[in-house]
Parts: sequence; structure tokens; C-alpha cells
Amino acid sequence: MKSFLQAPVLAAIAICITACASSDKAIAQEARPINADAPRPTEVSYSYVVKPAMVTPEEWGSEPDNMDDRRHTPKYLTIHHSGVVFKAGTDPAAKVKNLQTWGKAEKGWPDVPYHYLIAPDGTIFEARSTEFAPETNTKYDVSGHIGIDLMGNFEEQRVSKEQLQSLVHLLAWLGNRHSIDLATISGHRDVAPGQTVCPGADLHRYITGGQIYEWAVKFPTGQAGIELLPPMEDGPTEFVPTEG
Ligand SMILES: [Zn+2]
Repeated sequence: MKSFLQAPVLAAIAICITACASSDKAIAQEARPINADAPRPTEVSYSYVVKPAMVTPEEWGSEPDNMDDRRHTPKYLTIHHSGVVFKAGTDPAAKVKNLQTWGKAEKGWPDVPYHYLIAPDGTIFEARSTEFAPETNTKYDVSGHIGIDLMGNFEEQRVSKEQLQSLVHLLAWLGNRHSIDLATISGHRDVAPGQTVCPGADLHRYITGGQIYEWAVKFPTGQAGIELLPPMEDGPTEFVPTEG
């Protein structure tokens, strides 16, 4: 039945339950609550998150090789940037396909190194299956990580609001779907210290500042309140181009 309920409805129920629970506690030593015996929707999944829209591997023409030896259990949510300045007019689907082709030919990777990629306009591309561990050019144990790449170079460009909105929805959904603690959300540089600037200063500050975690936690309530921070001092000023 859960799948027939809309997230905002569930959020409203969740808020109600929370309020009821705390008021129960407050009046426990006083008179018995009038509604003490009223039925309560105990079967509701409070954090249920609808899967965000995404371009499937079939739709962008994925051709992965076999990678049965890379099976893992997802435990961590790790954020990357492409590290390449995204230029207006670039086709993001072609970028995903080219990354797969290049990785197979040059690195011996069986598939796109990331599980999901997010274009500047917020379009999410599904890439490597989350059943398999990702790839990296740095040294850390990749097993258990779900890799999410935001297209652009956030040392030189600013992340778009559309990307942050899609990222937060994706993180909330992944946390819910795989029972991953959203507190594991980190940037590539946090899991491979001293080896990379990925995911770039303008995106990384939303991770270290706690905004992305807070927005992902609040996402099921429909009130995440995602807002861009002002530009960094001495940081990039131009946004990734959101229109072709
Ligand atoms: Zn990275």
C-alpha cells in the first residue's frame, strides 16, 4: 500500500505522530488522554521517499561488461564532481556514454565508475548498478560506497540549485532504499584525504557545512528548504550552464 501514498501525505502523518508522541509523554502523569485508545497508523514508513525521475542505462545506451566479482553491500553515500568544466551545449547523455567507453578502453573498468551522475540542469543518469562497488583513481576501499557524480568542476564553477535539488532527493531515496544512515554522506576528498580536491570547493562546503545532510533528512517532510549559499570568497562565480 505504501507505494500508493504520496510523500507529502506520509510527511504530514509523520509530523502528526511525532507531535502526538511528545504530548503523550508530557501528560503521562496527568489525566488519561481522551484519544489514548484511538487507532494509530503504526505501519506507516515515516521516511518513505519516492524514487526521483532518472534516465535509465538502457535509455543512454549503456553497454557494461560483466562485474560479478565486484558485488558489495551499499553502506556509504559519496559525492564527486567530474573535475572537468562543463561547457554550454554539451550533451550530458553523451558525456555519460563517453565516460563508460573511455573507462573500459583506458582503465579496464567494466562500467561507468559512478552509480549516478547529475547534469547541470538536474537530470539524473543511472549508471553502474548499486549491486557493484564503484571505481576510483585514488586509494580507498571502494566497497560499500555509492558514488554520485555532479557534472562540472566545482573548483572553477558553481554547483547549480537544480543539481543540489536532484542530489538531495537522490540521497534521501538511496538512504531509504538501502537503509543507509544519511550521516555517511561525504565527499570523495573526505574518504581519500590528501589525494584529491573532489568534489570541488563550491560543492564540498555544502557537505562539510551540514546543509546536504540536513536537507536530505528533511526531504520526506517536503520542507527541505534547499537554497544556494552566497559565492565563496576567492571561489568560483560562474554557475555550471543549466541550458544547452
Ligand atoms: Zn571524486
